Amino acid sequence: MPLLADLLDSIAANRVEIVDLTAPLSKDTPILQLPPPFANTINFSLEQISRYDEAGPNWYWNNIHTGEHTGTHVDAPVHWSSGKDGPDVSQLALRTLVAPAVVVDVSDRAVADPDYLLRIDDVRLWEAENGPLPAGGWVLLRTGWDRRSNDATRFLNADETGPHTPGIAAECARWLAEDTNLAGLGVETVGTDAGAAHGFDPPFPCHHYFLGAGKLGLTQLQNLARLPATGAVLVISPLPIVGGSGSPARVYALVER
Ligand code: MN
Repeated sequence: MPLLADLLDSIAANRVEIVDLTAPLSKDTPILQLPPPFANTINFSLEQISRYDEAGPNWYWNNIHTGEHTGTHVDAPVHWSSGKDGPDVSQLALRTLVAPAVVVDVSDRAVADPDYLLRIDDVRLWEAENGPLPAGGWVLLRTGWDRRSNDATRFLNADETGPHTPGIAAECARWLAEDTNLAGLGVETVGTDAGAAHGFDPPFPCHHYFLGAGKLGLTQLQNLARLPATGAVLVISPLPIVGGSGSPARVYALVER
């Protein structure tokens, strides 16, 4: 059977499941909160144009107001100073957006310690159990943080010392970005970096190293618990915003059952 017909048959027969990894996009979608003097993005909102009324008797439509980095979204290399000569979000190679994904599950540790950081030894241990990281593919960091995503306060988890959310240690971020053939890093949190990463060396190391290496970031994923450690195919669909530094995206995984 031709490959794509086989795939469609498999989807119809539930031998391949389509898992939605996307957070719903609404005015309640949590957004990053930077401290002064930095500027912040806006909340997502709908502005109604008409709804079967005198402004449009038979049609309903809205303008949308959003930042590029709102909800489940892609960071393009040009988002960060280290990647400023890299591609914008309209220029991403499609083969990086339909690609294999593996899940590194640290949810047990992140539940116990909201500031938990993934280290190189954790990834080495994962590789010993699961095989090498996928060339041209994605590492998805499962922390269990998606359970908080419908509550902005718990999701951002900030106190007087700043946000406390799990992520990746600077040395591990450098190693994943520079010494592997990954396409990108996906996380469940509001950004690819840990909440405390403003104080790391360098600050925000996942942004610094991944985007500087021409790799991508993917945030606020959900349902990673429904993916196997290896074998899923990720389908990521950012809008081709010309000159854009990122874009909200619908993200699916294809999973063999
Ligand atoms: Mn972003």
